[in-house]
Amino acid sequence: MEFRESKKECELSVVVPVFNEESGLNHFFNELLPMLERETSQFEIVFVNDGSYDNSLELIRELARKDHRIIGVELSRNFGHQKALLCGIRQACGRVVITLDADLQHPPELIPQMIREWEEGADVVQMVRKNSASENFFDKHLSSCFYRAFNIVSNVKLIPACPDFRLLDRSCVDALGEYKENNLFLRAVIPQMGFKQVYLNFNCPERKTGTRSYSIVKSLRMALDAFFSHSNLGLYVPFFIGAACFIALILSFLFFFYLYCTSAFRVKFGLAAFAIMEILQAGVVLMSLGIFGWYIARIFEAAKARPSFHVRSVISFSPGMESVPRKLKK
Ligand code: UDP
Ligand code: MG
Repeated sequence: MEFRESKKECELSVVVPVFNEESGLNHFFNELLPMLERETSQFEIVFVNDGSYDNSLELIRELARKDHRIIGVELSRNFGHQKALLCGIRQACGRVVITLDADLQHPPELIPQMIREWEEGADVVQMVRKNSASENFFDKHLSSCFYRAFNIVSNVKLIPACPDFRLLDRSCVDALGEYKENNLFLRAVIPQMGFKQVYLNFNCPERKTGTRSYSIVKSLRMALDAFFSHSNLGLYVPFFIGAACFIALILSFLFFFYLYCTSAFRVKFGLAAFAIMEILQAGVVLMSLGIFGWYIARIFEAAKARPSFHVRSVISFSPGMESVPRKLKK
């Protein structure tokens, strides 16, 4: 999907999803800019405003007016972090695309180091959180359970604590463009693509301004989406549970039949036990139907093939790139 009128090539694109970041956006920009200028004059910063209801969009417009290397993409409403990122990546025209958050939890001073890794041949430079300052006890345990469970059920092996702070080579960005799924979970899709990936550790600082927008519900939804799009196991598990229940039922039938033949009192107990088994079985059947429901919902979503997001406007005052570009190596 191309929605920018003229997609000029540039060396480096930085994609930043923005949702209600008015309190820290200027500071973020002031930290980011010198890092990019050190590397190349041919860069662009793509701010994707993901339906912010504060002043973020105005700030982006203001920045874009002052510096034509800034592009603002305004989504029609809030579509969520992953879709905002995907939108920015599709919009980016750089030979290298770096994604990072606007809250300075992904330090821009690491960008030169990421670019060095790319120059040495990496297609993907994935940053790995060494610490998780901002995570509370609940988040930490929930996410470690998620990674463990995901790695069991899926054939993609995820490394925990890999945020959406990464560098992508153009070949990888183009490959990503071929995915037509509605709910792309970039953290799993990118390692699965098989490009040469290197990992760099970093210390993740606390969010300095604004508030975290990932609620427990949003995180759970993302986790479930990730499960169902990267594993078919849920489709087979009900069969094995059903088979186990079937065997248990036959055995208990034989057991209670034996009791029926030997004692009248125990037969009543046996009937109660049968009732419990029936309820249990109904629970398993309904749960299995529910699991199938998740898959069917995903198939339904895919069949509708609705766009992942809508762009309301693209803010760009850019007449073109700088006149004497300093090229990145490679
Ligand atoms: N974000 C977004 N859309 C959303 C939620 C968040 O574009 O619906 C942006 C947000 O502005 C930030 C990044 O995604 O730049 C990460 O969000 P947040 O800091 O809330 O997540 P966390 O770092 O806690 O995982
Ligand atoms: Mg954050």
